[in-house]
Amino acid sequence: MATTGKITERDGIKTITTHYIDGAFVESHGREVIDVIKPTNGKVIARVTLADEEDTRLAIAAAKRAFATYGRSAKEERAKILRRLHEAASARIDDLTAAMVEEYGGVVQFARPIVESGVNAFLASEKALQDLPLTRSWGKTTVTLEPVGVAGLITAWNANALFICLKLASAVAAGCTVVLKPSELSSLQTRVMVEALHEADLPKGLLNVVTGLGNIVGTELTRNPDVAKISFTGSVGVGESIMRDGAATMKRVTLELGGKSPTILLDDAALDKAIPAALVLAFMNSGQACAAGARLLVPKSRLDEVKRSIRTVMRVFTVGDPADPKTAIGPMVSQKQYERVQSYIRKGIEEGAEVLAGGEGHPEGLEAGYFVKPTVFVNVKNDMTIAQEEIFGPVLCVIAYDTEEDAIRIANDSKYGLHASVLGTDLERARRVASQIRAGRVVINGMTDDPQAPWGGFKYSGVGREYGRYGMEAFLETRAILEA
Ligand code: NAD
Repeated sequence: MATTGKITERDGIKTITTHYIDGAFVESHGREVIDVIKPTNGKVIARVTLADEEDTRLAIAAAKRAFATYGRSAKEERAKILRRLHEAASARIDDLTAAMVEEYGGVVQFARPIVESGVNAFLASEKALQDLPLTRSWGKTTVTLEPVGVAGLITAWNANALFICLKLASAVAAGCTVVLKPSELSSLQTRVMVEALHEADLPKGLLNVVTGLGNIVGTELTRNPDVAKISFTGSVGVGESIMRDGAATMKRVTLELGGKSPTILLDDAALDKAIPAALVLAFMNSGQACAAGARLLVPKSRLDEVKRSIRTVMRVFTVGDPADPKTAIGPMVSQKQYERVQSYIRKGIEEGAEVLAGGEGHPEGLEAGYFVKPTVFVNVKNDMTIAQEEIFGPVLCVIAYDTEEDAIRIANDSKYGLHASVLGTDLERARRVASQIRAGRVVINGMTDDPQAPWGGFKYSGVGREYGRYGMEAFLETRAILEA
């Protein structure tokens, strides 16, 4: 049964009972209902009916039908669709930001730019599409870049709007049709996004969205032979299972996984700029960021100075209401995530690290929600659990090093290799250090972005790349036609 898809609300509780399949909002076949909890106070704000395997199969079938036509679309048609998607999503930036603040607890000073960068991904993909020749010929040989087929997009909860737009933009540019499975923790945010994208008047079946559990909807997508590719953002454990389960149907996979990113502070760094930059990297998105600079490597000769500077700058990293533009750090997404962060703080203390700021428990006056104290550990050794495992919360490990070579060795001594940063005054030296880091992206002197630069990890941080041309290529196959 088709409906408008609008979220209904009664007694302050929102309800969603539909999925987006074949261009329409349809009632869920799955019957399981989950509560959506507001992370600032632990109260139920919505009830969402989750998709099951049957909903997922309907969505895949719709995407397969649409691929028969859209898979043969010309560049200009795809470009037009990307522009329409951009326009449709742009119209709802305020609503998308508000949903991220309410459901996820993202601070507005981070949520808004992250939503904007998602929305801009449509134009970035259009540029990548215009710049990439889809046909190359020489002699009697012609090589074309063909869409891989129906793509399953599986996303994490910490930057929902960005992940959806980024993956959808690359898939659409490549000529793929998609079935999106967002995290169930992002149900409200996803619905606002889908309402927005519905206005782009897409060909039916190009975009299908089924919100459900990973072990139900995610598994169906991963195993279904009609899905050619999975583009996944999430944890290493689930990434491994997607690779393993996907092998049976020879799935192409892009896996955007975890990180334990190093920030190397060189001994010529100006601390008045470098420490605020390092703390922004560490605490971005309340520390629930795959790219968070969770390990700060500091020259031993400057350790005392750095500690003093961190203590001072920490005052700016206020915790509180994420809707307040002055708040730097919001709550964790869920009780589970709150407990995970607490357990790592305890572990750090047990392992002998020293708490310079923060520590266990709720910040004073913020006992109701999933707020944690932004925590900085010093005297951390790189082989400690808190320096090796991804915490996914506002916990920074300060690790001392002797020489530049030592810093590079420590930075690379991690199973992860997603993101890194180098802070220093001598740019040539900073570049030299950056070029020795085994990570998919290294930023110099502060967090920055480029929608055409690849994003993705070395080692356990994943397989493949997203953004711009690199993201689009991940949804393409080459076909060569040779004449005798
Ligand atoms: P998660 O792996 O638990 O879940 C991610 C998605 O996978 C969700 O939609 C979930 O429902 C689904 N899923 C769960 N089990 C599945 C299964 N068996 N088959 C298919 N899908 C399944 O991760 P999360 O807790 O949502 O997100 C946090 C993780 O994501 C962190 O490790 C973080 O580093 C990572 N992350 C990586 C990037 C990146 O760009 N590299 C960005 C953000 C987050």
